[in-house]
Amino acid sequence: MRDPRYDILFEPIKIGPVTAKNRFYQVPHCTGSGSQRPRILAGLREVKAEGGWGVINTEYCSVHPSSDDPPHPSASLWDQRDIKAHALMTEKVHAHGALAGVELCLGGARMANLETREVAMSAVSMPNLAGNPFQTRAMDLADIREVRRWHRNAALRAKEAEFDLVYIYATHGYLLSQFMSPDMNTRADAYGGTLENRIRLVREIIEDTKDAVGDKMAIAVRFSAETNGGYDSGDGNPMPGETEEIFGILGELPDLWDININDYSIEMGLSRFVQEGALEPYVKTLKSMTTKPVVSVGRFTSPDTMVGQINRGILDLIGAARPSIADPFLPKKIEEGRFEDIRECIGCNICYMGDGKGVPIRCTQNPTMSEEWRRGWHPEIIQPRKSNSRVLILGAGPAGLEAAHALGKRGYEVMLAEATRELGGRVLKEANLPGLNQWIRVRDYRLQQIEKMDCVEIFRESELTAQEALDVGADHIAVATGSTWRRDGYGAHALGKLPLLSPQSQIYTPDDIMTGNMPEGSVVVYDDDHYYMGSVIAERIAALGHNVTLVTPQDTISAWGYYTYDRWRAQSRLMDMGVTLIVSKTLKEFDGSKAKLSCTYTGAEASFDCASLVLVTSRKPNDTIFTELSTLADSNEHTAPKTLKRIGDCEAPAIIAAAVYSGHRYARDLEEILDPDNPLKHDRVFFQDT
Ligand code: ADP
Ligand code: SF4
Repeated sequence: MRDPRYDILFEPIKIGPVTAKNRFYQVPHCTGSGSQRPRILAGLREVKAEGGWGVINTEYCSVHPSSDDPPHPSASLWDQRDIKAHALMTEKVHAHGALAGVELCLGGARMANLETREVAMSAVSMPNLAGNPFQTRAMDLADIREVRRWHRNAALRAKEAEFDLVYIYATHGYLLSQFMSPDMNTRADAYGGTLENRIRLVREIIEDTKDAVGDKMAIAVRFSAETNGGYDSGDGNPMPGETEEIFGILGELPDLWDININDYSIEMGLSRFVQEGALEPYVKTLKSMTTKPVVSVGRFTSPDTMVGQINRGILDLIGAARPSIADPFLPKKIEEGRFEDIRECIGCNICYMGDGKGVPIRCTQNPTMSEEWRRGWHPEIIQPRKSNSRVLILGAGPAGLEAAHALGKRGYEVMLAEATRELGGRVLKEANLPGLNQWIRVRDYRLQQIEKMDCVEIFRESELTAQEALDVGADHIAVATGSTWRRDGYGAHALGKLPLLSPQSQIYTPDDIMTGNMPEGSVVVYDDDHYYMGSVIAERIAALGHNVTLVTPQDTISAWGYYTYDRWRAQSRLMDMGVTLIVSKTLKEFDGSKAKLSCTYTGAEASFDCASLVLVTSRKPNDTIFTELSTLADSNEHTAPKTLKRIGDCEAPAIIAAAVYSGHRYARDLEEILDPDNPLKHDRVFFQDT
């Protein structure tokens, strides 16, 4: 059972009028579901409570229709029906002895209220901070009174919904940050000017909330450690600004401080750019300035790091969003000493994509996230096998490994054949690219689990042909042979082969770079894939001293990386490295010494010298063996397996999270009776008007 070294993590912590059973604190985080999918949320939060988190919070929760953030799905506490929706969650969280918190939010100039069409309000009339062409109304004193009333009423509704903890959200650039900012808040009344005036609204709202619900609920303030400080122009690190002064005034007012950094690309930094525990230098000063408990995040997955944070007086509670998403059972596994069972977050931020796209949160490491209610998937429990069938899986990338892992857990006899000696498929290769080393956790977690299972046998260096696969005589065959980067220029923009590319000896793909076949001379990396691969490949080649130009038909580099926070950091990294960036240009021709580009807007063409071309465009499924197996199976019913399926990138090349999900789904569905018309429950808000 529990190693005494970790006892400190399981001490109860008093937070105002409530007590958390331990120090594991799931901070508010985006879920992509918000007020639209309350049952999905209740399901995912229930498993976190079951997994041992002492406090579980909602995502940002709008207090009134004048704080409305579509297409980003936020929670809401506008009326009785919202209370009912949240109560689905609080009841489940309480059933496991955890506390439930809600992060009330006033949007100000960060929200344009595109759905409700209410006029957004802020300290002054200012442009929308998310780029919408809607300015805010400057709040008059009557507006300020209304906003306070709305916040107070939402807190009262939160109490009715049985929340234990309520947030005042004073960071991330929302309304209260706008009031605190000397740059944005140029008011001449009692709410602008001096620091005391600029923090008046925050203070009043803390006091209102305490007065309304403070008898039963803990009051948390989410606050940035570089409030009004900005970022150092030299090293880009946050500067303290007025933080300490504000803390000196408000430090003892709330029951809990949740400290972060405004810049999401640091606060929830990708492992590619930001290491575990990166906020420590900013948090530690503030912790020493208050007697109230302090929580912050740092992509903490190591129990030793967590203990260190507490023993060194940095934090009182271990805040986590991503580690709780990747492994809802992280606290329980630490408590039970099952460290090798921890599914560590890889820091890829695919979980954040749901917020930008308005779809339920998903996770590369945890394929069950958001599927708890709608598919009935539990992160730790899976239904037992239906028969004594034997399953052959070809390929040990993320899809094959996850399928073998989940099938093994079901008790099936599994043979996992992998062509190469090392397992991991694409993550094995990609983890060697700059900054992606933590991605190997996708393989390591699964391999550690499989190695404990008697029913799963791994066959390395076993590149099977279709006939050999059939000869194994398995009842079911899953083909998880992945995909290969294309060499012909076919990509998201050019939906056809680019005919004028030669000589082949000077054309490379990410597969070449990842296996050490490197280009020579000055290099053009052509990115028609638009996620991380183009920028990572450019970084790898530039680090070897080549003159590198990254070209993309999109208007920004790593355009899809907008959803994961890859984009900004990738661009600044490449600029720092001296990589030339060319956007809005398509590749027309490469002849071995020149690349010809064409403007995506005007068609104007221009050529420049380069010796090598790396095509990061799209991938071809490695499905030849699947096709051959289908043909063989069709021609001989007696030796045909009961089922033959493609999974992962072999079925449809996509992100790693999709491959893991595909493998997991295959394992869940095997030999189950499925309804093809209704494979999953559809969450819809439909509460009667009560
Ligand atoms: P996914 O992301 O779908 O899991 P990957 O490309 O990561 O796919 O992994 C595919 C794996 O399949 C690679 O490790 C590759 O070596 C292996 N593989 C490909 N063809 C065969 C084969 N015929 N037999 C066994 N393994 C194979
Ligand atoms: Fe971590 Fe990636 Fe999962 Fe997010 S999606 S929790 S960053 S592994």
